[in-house]
Amino acid sequence: MEQKSNSIRLTLLGGVDEVGGNTVLLEDKSYDVRLFIDFGIKIRNYLNIYERGQYPSGVEELIQANLLPAEERISIQNLYLTELKLEKVIASKPSNLDGILISHPHKDHYFGLSFVNRTIPIYTGVVTKRIIRAFCKSERSTIINNFNNLNWHTFRTGNILDIKGMKITPFHVDHSVPAAYGFIIYTSAGPVVYTGDFRRHGPLSNMTEEFLEEVKTHNTVLTSCELEPEQQELISEGVKVLICEGTKISKGIVESEQNVEENLEKIFINNPFDFILVKYDRIDWDRFRTFSNIAKKYGWKYIITEKDAYFYYLLNKKAIHETMKDPNILSDDHIYILKRGSANYKWQDKVRQVIYRRNKGNRFLNHRDLKSLEGKFLVYVTRLHNGLIRNLDFSKRGLFISSSVDPYSEEFYDNTNNIRNRLKPYGIPSYRVHASGHATPHDIINFIEEIKPKFLIPIHTENPDFFEKLFQSSDIKVLLPNKNDSIEF
Ligand SMILES: [Zn+2]
Repeated sequence: MEQKSNSIRLTLLGGVDEVGGNTVLLEDKSYDVRLFIDFGIKIRNYLNIYERGQYPSGVEELIQANLLPAEERISIQNLYLTELKLEKVIASKPSNLDGILISHPHKDHYFGLSFVNRTIPIYTGVVTKRIIRAFCKSERSTIINNFNNLNWHTFRTGNILDIKGMKITPFHVDHSVPAAYGFIIYTSAGPVVYTGDFRRHGPLSNMTEEFLEEVKTHNTVLTSCELEPEQQELISEGVKVLICEGTKISKGIVESEQNVEENLEKIFINNPFDFILVKYDRIDWDRFRTFSNIAKKYGWKYIITEKDAYFYYLLNKKAIHETMKDPNILSDDHIYILKRGSANYKWQDKVRQVIYRRNKGNRFLNHRDLKSLEGKFLVYVTRLHNGLIRNLDFSKRGLFISSSVDPYSEEFYDNTNNIRNRLKPYGIPSYRVHASGHATPHDIINFIEEIKPKFLIPIHTENPDFFEKLFQSSDIKVLLPNKNDSIEF
């Protein structure tokens, strides 16, 4: 048997000294496997170049701008589509990349898929794919929103992926979006663990604890695979490399989604306001539920746009987890939907059909209805467009609640301050009510110490040096590679 150690190489192509843009190339010589773990983009850098409505001319432009990796540099052939045609299957030459693992449906982890050669297998969770597809379908098709005809291979927790004999256990974690996963990759140099983005203070934090337990016991792979004695021995030696997210390693806030609910409750008790504009990340399902529940409880209307309604409808329709059925676009009658013009898009048509078919047409509003709307209402906003501003009755008391994802933004540009400033002349005060999608310093350190990896590589953090300081007197060796540097194990 050939020597199996020292045979993997990790290259961090993104997520180094930065939040977002995670892309890790894992090469295992013994298994002859080349794999990307996530294929993200740094959204903020992208938005520094392209304004709203502006798009790159092609993938070369994004490579030149250092937003996506250059294939020559990493010896990957045919990584990208040769021709960019939307909605069409394009015959491409096969790539030597064996697959791309996508941890969760935040664009800073999957953006690159728009450009990827359609022959490359994309491994992701059943619901993760569904959210990516729903998001894609409820936005205009563009060069950067092209998640059609990908070679999807979906999994659930408990499944094992087998890539040329190399086993991978995907396992759920709690984050600010549903369907987030970490990965345990059983390489020929030992287990490599990738956390993806995670937290331990969310409503589903038990999922993160189960992932941690899996990393410590390797239960799934040990009970469901026939492993060679050497593979078992490698596993018994413990985790070789932990690639751990560190978004909040330098600054923690003691918080929870439960706090968000309790704090919102405080706003609604003795509430002197007539309407509230609220902003959070559209795919933050927990936050959506929290706001919807509070509106329902206090008898307020909850107003969302048609696009939001369509997105949530798609997720409701194929919900696997009970939590994804609540709120329910079809049956929750306190949810009102803002119509926008005539149905120009297929999705617009669809959402109107399903609501009217249920005789719930009364839940559609036009912007001009806002002025004369009976009772108190919440409006979900991602930005302030003129249609909304023109039609709100500012002789009534309004409030703005910012409840977005973490300020650096994982999905789109954080325009909270713009909104706040635009509302000031109308005398609209603002609050911030929030809980992060990322683990606190406490939770990260304890998590790492429980795993006790031989090597630790921080990712998705602007403060990787914190890890070096925090673990300086530990047996865990912290590695801080530069972007595009390779490390061999
Ligand atoms: Zn994320």
